[in-house]
Amino acid sequence: MDIKRNILLNPGPATTTDTVKLAQVAPDICPREKEFAGLMAGLREDLVKVVHGGLERYAAVLFCGSGTLCMDVCLNSLLPEGKKALIVHNGAYSARAADICRSYGLPHVDLKLPYDRPADLAAVEEALRANRDAALVYVTHNETGTGLLNPIRELGALAHRYGAVLVADTTSTYAMRPIDIEADNIDFCMASAQKGLMAMTGLSFVIGRRDIIEASEDYPRRSYYCNLFRQYDCFERTGEMEFTPPVQTVYAAIQAMKEYWAEGEQAKWARHTRTMEAIHTGLAELGFQEAIRREWQAGLVAAARCPDDPNWSFERVHDYCYARGFTIYPGKVGTAGTFRLCALGAIDAPDIRAFFQVFRAALDACGVAVPARYNG
Ligand SMILES: *Cc1c(COP(=O)(O)O)cnc(C)c1O
Repeated sequence: MDIKRNILLNPGPATTTDTVKLAQVAPDICPREKEFAGLMAGLREDLVKVVHGGLERYAAVLFCGSGTLCMDVCLNSLLPEGKKALIVHNGAYSARAADICRSYGLPHVDLKLPYDRPADLAAVEEALRANRDAALVYVTHNETGTGLLNPIRELGALAHRYGAVLVADTTSTYAMRPIDIEADNIDFCMASAQKGLMAMTGLSFVIGRRDIIEASEDYPRRSYYCNLFRQYDCFERTGEMEFTPPVQTVYAAIQAMKEYWAEGEQAKWARHTRTMEAIHTGLAELGFQEAIRREWQAGLVAAARCPDDPNWSFERVHDYCYARGFTIYPGKVGTAGTFRLCALGAIDAPDIRAFFQVFRAALDACGVAVPARYNG
């Protein structure tokens, strides 16, 4: 089978290998068979091992849905009655977390911080001191809208000092930027299969402390479908998801996991890093500026400033590149005037060099000046 290879520079779903794509073509199976439960059990263990967690202390809980589902699950399931969540808000994804709190009516502090720099530990500590009833601190590891990296290890230590649980949204770092769940002071992290794992959309997972999940049995049940304890308990008792799992997506994730171990944590991170390096180089050569200082970036997303050029049109440049097999992505609210190039997926530096030839041609076709012009 000859499958066209597209280079996705959007922040997930990412470019996948053909072997992962083809793993979905498998004999039909009822997911209630023991054979399928066994496959999911192996995947759950591997998901914990990716972040170097001990299987006695940490468990992975799978859900059928996109990554936002895990944000929803952690927030609605891990907050004891009468306690508050503290949302470290410095980007579009932590804004979404605050929105989730509002939609459940969860008591929370929406700690709004600047979007262009890592969360300030002193500001978080002040909020914890002022809100002694904060039982959960929520932070986004890589704010994918800008590519900003937050200091989760330090925030985790701080949360623990104030008796709170740390939930880190690692959706856009997991299985890319190395994470050590215990050393990084993470109680819960999360991701979806389509990003760092380079598998398919529709399967997401929360990885976290068994003792806390077990204690959460007594917390208010705020969602029927998206409750962490309920899904964990079902997995532990039966090896199955409570409701129908995304069968073919699970097959793809298992294949992707094999490929993850074959490539290796350090080699994979090195590949993403050189892919990102090629993105920075390509942007700089065309005079494009980036929105976030390099030393504050997570190393997986570049948010480039749109030039102040009357001929610049994200749509037209996008369409030109898309027609040639390359996908670029617009910026997010709060960082309007940017577009994004990401280093997720089964791609490498030569793909980026090929992209920049097409991107350069797109700029020429649109009449955008090179080097890119800015009014300040
Ligand atoms: C991709 C992503 C999510 C999940 O987004 P979905 O569109 O629901 O898959 C959550 N958090 C972060 C930081 C992300 O990058």
